[in-house]
Amino acid sequence: MTSRVGDFDVVVIGAGPVGCVAALAYAQSDARTLLLEANPNSARRLAGEWLHPRGLSVLRSLGIDPAADSAFDSGRGFAMFPDDQSPPCPPSVCEQRSRLER
Ligand SMILES: Cc1cc2nc3c(=O)[nH]c(=O)nc-3n(C[C@H](O)[C@H](O)[C@H](O)COP(=O)(O)OP(=O)(O)OC[C@H]3O[C@@H](n4cnc5c(N)ncnc54)[C@H](O)[C@@H]3O)c2cc1C
Repeated sequence: MTSRVGDFDVVVIGAGPVGCVAALAYAQSDARTLLLEANPNSARRLAGEWLHPRGLSVLRSLGIDPAADSAFDSGRGFAMFPDDQSPPCPPSVCEQRSRLER
């Protein structure tokens, strides 16, 4: 079977996390969706180990719950280690600290 770009309502270029989620969202809204990826090996590169809560809620809204069948425990947050060697802090505290210093 041969498909042409004109056969689709939406063409998403790049099957990284953003492209995949965009393509899935369009497909779930019944748009005829084509997802194109230039590098078939790109899914093999290490590009993430943490899913942030906001990303998780986007995935859940699309019917994907990676935490449901994960072999790993959920993290309880992360800390940032400031360049100035001050003690590690959660991101929100670091942001406030750097705003105060400006
Ligand atoms: C080592 C590492 C660790 C990371 N850890 C985390 C983490 O723990 N948590 C987190 O949230 N984020 C993490 N990130 C960041 C996260 O990987 C990126 O934010 C995310 O990959 C961005 O997704 P994207 O879809 O916008 O772009 P990309 O992942 O870059 O995907 C773009 C895709 O488009 C394709 N493409 C480009 N041009 C074309 C074209 N002309 N035609 C067709 N295809 C094309 C590329 O081949 C690629 O597959 C990490 C990144 C790295 C490098």
